[in-house]
Amino acid sequence: MLYQRSSRLFAEASQVIPGGVNSPVRAFKAVGGTPIFIKEAKGPYLYDEDDNRLIDYINSWGPMILGHAYGPVVNAVIERAKKGTSFGAPTALETEIATLAVAMVPNIDKIRFVNSGTEACMSAVRLARGYTKRDKIIKFAGCYHGHSDSFLIQAGSGAVTFGTPNSPGVTQGTAQDTLLAKYNDLDNVAALFKANPNSVAAIIIEPVAGNMGCIPPSKGFLEGLRSLCDANGTLLIFDEVMTGFRLAKGGAQELFGVKADIVTFGKVIGGGLPVGAFAGRHEIMDYLAPSGPVYQAGTLSGNPLAMAAGLEMLKALNTDSAIYQRLDEKTTYLEKGIREKLDTTGVVYTINRVGSMISVHFDATPVTDFSTAANGDNETFKKFFHGLLQEGVYIAPSAYETWFITDALTYEDIDYTIEAVGKVANNLK
Ligand SMILES: *Cc1c(COP(=O)(O)O)cnc(C)c1O
Repeated sequence: MLYQRSSRLFAEASQVIPGGVNSPVRAFKAVGGTPIFIKEAKGPYLYDEDDNRLIDYINSWGPMILGHAYGPVVNAVIERAKKGTSFGAPTALETEIATLAVAMVPNIDKIRFVNSGTEACMSAVRLARGYTKRDKIIKFAGCYHGHSDSFLIQAGSGAVTFGTPNSPGVTQGTAQDTLLAKYNDLDNVAALFKANPNSVAAIIIEPVAGNMGCIPPSKGFLEGLRSLCDANGTLLIFDEVMTGFRLAKGGAQELFGVKADIVTFGKVIGGGLPVGAFAGRHEIMDYLAPSGPVYQAGTLSGNPLAMAAGLEMLKALNTDSAIYQRLDEKTTYLEKGIREKLDTTGVVYTINRVGSMISVHFDATPVTDFSTAANGDNETFKKFFHGLLQEGVYIAPSAYETWFITDALTYEDIDYTIEAVGKVANNLK
């Protein structure tokens, strides 16, 4: 496959957009080469500027769970747009989608809509701090909660207690309120509580990590966090921007049967338009302005086009009783096929999967946290990525990303993908 026009467009973009992209992971930095420019998409396929057809395993990083240009969502957006695109005043549509979301997700009474997952997580943490009157939060290495300052923290060597910023522009003052923990390590979290008594407002976690590849929570881990939070007067925030409406109607809370105090959403909830949301019980959510003292606002929050798209998406997921089972079966079939192909090559690999989230790591040991995810052989991953791209299979351009399976994918597409993996696998060693 040729990508000449994409390369030219990237060169042009780089003149006027920093790094040529509006979000860094699109730039192919981790795998080399230049990004593919997309012209249009339908169902499970992307069509690029060189007129290649690609089977899409990124799906806009999760939102397109029913495939691209899904009819009911597209029509809803068109119809709404004709009636005006933004009012800065409430609409009945916002109550309609809020009511449906609250019905689908366990343990939430109220939900506030924003414009991105970043905003949702940033606001959730502010709310948790205001509600508990505490400053510190615990986050896990390798978990991503958007790009607001408090979350861009990594452990410096020996920095068990206080994080250090991993982006210039994040102040030490902000960084010191973010305590960094190891995913799937309860003892580590317990030690942080012990070292910081009565000062942790919240733990924020991806209940299934999806930003260091896909990493499932080990048995009892989420339950253990729930107990530690209860014992310490700390709120548990599930960042379900990826897992919400993807792993189950009620997300990870439903799948694992663990209650969170605040849940954040993004991606699927917007049906492909810019939407985020955060939700919780009455007493917590009523702490938000205008009913409470914690300020949070947005000119375009609850935007009618975005709400119309999200509502059609949630309705479709809510009324299709077999959707999550079907996604799980398709992804299981894909996993099995990839394993069979990789097994014939002798290349070392680990595959992690929860429902329709799956990742392939070129790593011999189980991938259970950030450091084991970072062990993977990136040279092999690069070959795997570019090999699949040549075959017309588009996976995320980084070993730290999850593949998202869409229900639009047919078994024919999956078989094609497995055959492509077979061809590529022979060149990996
Ligand atoms: C994508 C993502 C975010 C950030 O959402 P944006 O809409 O990109 O701001 C936050 N948390 C998780 C778990 C995500 O996957």
